Amino acid sequence: MARRLLTCVAAALLLVGVGAGVSGAIGGNAAEWDPAVVDLVAFVEAERGLRFEHPVPVAVLRDDEFAAEVGRAARSADADDGRQAAELRALGLTSGHDSGTLANVAADRYVGMYRPSTGRIVVRAARSAPASTPSLMASPAARATLVHELTHALDDQHHDLARLGGSRAETDGERFARRAVIEASALLVERAYLDAMSQADRDAHDRELEARRRARTKHDGAARLLAMPYVAGRTFVDAVAATRPQSPGVIDDLLRMPPVSEKQVRWPETFLAGERPVHVDAPALRETERRTAEASDVGAITLETVLAPHVGDERAAAAGRSWRGSAATHYGRADGTACLRIAFAIAGAAVVATAGAVADAAARLPDATAEHDGRGRVVLDACDVSRRR
Ligand SMILES: [Zn+2]
Repeated sequence: MARRLLTCVAAALLLVGVGAGVSGAIGGNAAEWDPAVVDLVAFVEAERGLRFEHPVPVAVLRDDEFAAEVGRAARSADADDGRQAAELRALGLTSGHDSGTLANVAADRYVGMYRPSTGRIVVRAARSAPASTPSLMASPAARATLVHELTHALDDQHHDLARLGGSRAETDGERFARRAVIEASALLVERAYLDAMSQADRDAHDRELEARRRARTKHDGAARLLAMPYVAGRTFVDAVAATRPQSPGVIDDLLRMPPVSEKQVRWPETFLAGERPVHVDAPALRETERRTAEASDVGAITLETVLAPHVGDERAAAAGRSWRGSAATHYGRADGTACLRIAFAIAGAAVVATAGAVADAAARLPDATAEHDGRGRVVLDACDVSRRR
């Protein structure tokens, strides 16, 4: 969806990336590793097949501190929380009035964060954890999270992850796709760490995850979007690795030459076939409408996620698979209502089916219309009704 929306996700994801050591350290490099993470550093280096160029600061934070830091980081990339939340509501991805921003969802769900801009890892303490910092880091859940974030830090030292989200030239699709590879890299090392845990530690880890799940606010669609780089990234990397059994460095290859769209990540065969997004002109504004943000692109996974609750998983997936490119115009009506108008280029053979699915979903969204322009483009126009009188 909106550039801002996806940018925010990207920022949040990055957040889910680093941390090393010292509580309160901001920016710069740590002179030494925190003794509590030295064994984890060795594990990550061995598993990932790379060496750290320098230590990173790591802090374990209590729930409220951590949520505040994630929220700040997610927002710093992108300011307009209110419009973003309105657009999520317009697309049926959240229903709450104030809490449905991706920054809030991230603050609620993420357990760790690495920020390339600060080179620092922060991890959310286990809910049951005792007060002192060393014991916070001893919980199996915190250590698994540290392994994940340390992998981001290691990848950053070798692949400059700060490019992610930092380049204006990058499309939303490119940002998403690169993040999916970044998350897959960290998830693979985290999985290996979990597999190597003792049964007692694994049980403690699972109990902690379960406690967290129960404590979560429900966010539905927005949470699904936020989870996508993790879910789709794993299956994407597995699919690409299966085609290159002789190449152990598939993650490094993909970080150097990442996929470029949500569609390539979701349907790896389109990445392997070199199918790239086509250019789509952003839909025009009408009189009385005013632009509220830069044009953005809306990927195949987002299209699928918007459609699924209304037309079922199968039709939604078929529609996503038919995506060839997109452009979205973000605008406000004269009365201040926040809206977006998204044009999707659709593969010829599927255009009638996808236009039908989008129209069926639009009919069930609060204030949306769908149009098929007869030239392979389907346009979805959606507005937030929650603040209308
Ligand atoms: Zn991560």
